[in-house]
Amino acid sequence: MPYTVSSADLTARVAAILAAAGSSAEEAQTVAANLVLANLSGHDSHGVGMVPRYVDAVLEGGLKPNTAARVVLDTGTLLTLDGQRGYGQVVGVQAMALGIARAKAHGSCIMTLANAHHLGRIGHFAEMAVAQGLVSMHFVNVLSRPVVAPYGGGDGRFGTNPCCIGVPLAGSDPFVLDFATSRVAQGKMRVAHNEGKRAEPGTLIDEHGRPTTDPGVVVVPQSNGLFGALMAFGEHKGYGMAVACELLGGALTGSGTWHRPADNTRAVINGMLTILIDPARLGTQASFEQEAKAFVDWLRQSPAAPDSDGVRLAGEPEREARAARVQAGITIDDQTWAEIEQAAAKAGSA
Ligand code: NAD
Repeated sequence: MPYTVSSADLTARVAAILAAAGSSAEEAQTVAANLVLANLSGHDSHGVGMVPRYVDAVLEGGLKPNTAARVVLDTGTLLTLDGQRGYGQVVGVQAMALGIARAKAHGSCIMTLANAHHLGRIGHFAEMAVAQGLVSMHFVNVLSRPVVAPYGGGDGRFGTNPCCIGVPLAGSDPFVLDFATSRVAQGKMRVAHNEGKRAEPGTLIDEHGRPTTDPGVVVVPQSNGLFGALMAFGEHKGYGMAVACELLGGALTGSGTWHRPADNTRAVINGMLTILIDPARLGTQASFEQEAKAFVDWLRQSPAAPDSDGVRLAGEPEREARAARVQAGITIDDQTWAEIEQAAAKAGSA
């Protein structure tokens, strides 16, 4: 039976597991709260279901508890940081706090963060920036397993490389666009495989590079020991965005790009390029506010298409999910809960 739990109880349980795995009480609480917020936001693939992977990564030495972001270079508008394989939920927030302070002081900041362990939901960082009235853009690469195929290619060569843009909107909730550049999340294919379901056509290729709807091709090794791959969203355009994330998030930041065969290590390393702009310092504040509002009003006047709920703006689905799940609690499926309990046992948490 799926298990429904309040966000407070879930946060406490996850924090206890992370503390048993070596995190300080403060770090355990920060990471747990971030993961639970991802569940609340409707992104279960980036929520507490990651805990088993984090515990394994700590035990393998690929994720370093109680590690802070290190400042490599700080010229005010340029900030180069090394996450030193610390929890992304910690070093990512430290990096954003520094970048936001520099953008407030100078009008803009270009911040690179290398070697962060899994940063989770990138929208979390854009939400930090828009809450301070800043525009925020993020390009991220993922070093874990090459699960996404290049356009025209026949096997996985890079990760689900997320991209995120946050824009504060005067007098209304912000625009927060936050997406993986793969057609679907790898985690969703694992769930579909476990449930015996098929994937949408155009989502996957098998280990021979042929189109398939079998989600198992990216979950279990196929007959020749190879995996299939996910496809990027938006054909050649989405593929181009994924490559941009690898070049900017991986190469430009110094975090590293993917160019080796898959291994079985459990760590997930993210590199992130962040560009922060303070609209109040650009000299366009009045027209920015007016034009953004006029455009969003115009968008919302579009009549709902047949069989559609009508026009929404990026960020709204997450806010709606939060409002609903804060009331109803968070439902965790059997498999995920069993894996979390196994992780608790491995970490030595009662
Ligand atoms: P998704 O497809 O659910 O949503 C993507 C975006 O679309 C969101 O901004 C959402 O607000 C918006 N959206 C959804 N429905 C909409 C609608 N009807 N109208 C307008 N906008 C709408 O997201 P995804 O691609 O599955 O990514 C999920 C999460 O995974 C993201 O938070 C991403 O940052 C995270 N992620 C992280 C990593 C990592 O390595 N750290 C890797 C990949 C993805």
